[in-house]
Amino acid sequence: MTDETPPLPVALEETVPVELLKAEVHAWAARIGVAPKSVHIRPMTRKWGSCSSNGRLTLDSGLLAQPAQVRAEVIVHELLHLKLPNHGKLFRGLVRAYVTQYGPGA
Ligand SMILES: [Zn+2]
Repeated sequence: MTDETPPLPVALEETVPVELLKAEVHAWAARIGVAPKSVHIRPMTRKWGSCSSNGRLTLDSGLLAQPAQVRAEVIVHELLHLKLPNHGKLFRGLVRAYVTQYGPGA
């Protein structure tokens, strides 16, 4: 007796649409209580994201192929820079707290 279903194609990396990443940014911004002036997604060479002091957020398009957990950490990190400019103990604690409280799997 054979009951063979063809195997489903397995995507090596699962990419999400730009719209989803932007929606995630806005959802996190609302939770954190910040309002980025603009959100841009483009290829970046040396980092996942940046946030300018005037509230312009830029995220690496490579994030679209990253797991939800990584996306959440990068988004929270950049958005928190709208509140705290540095990477001090408080900053790192807040990133951890937000991602743990609201992040994927929470
Ligand atoms: Zn940073």
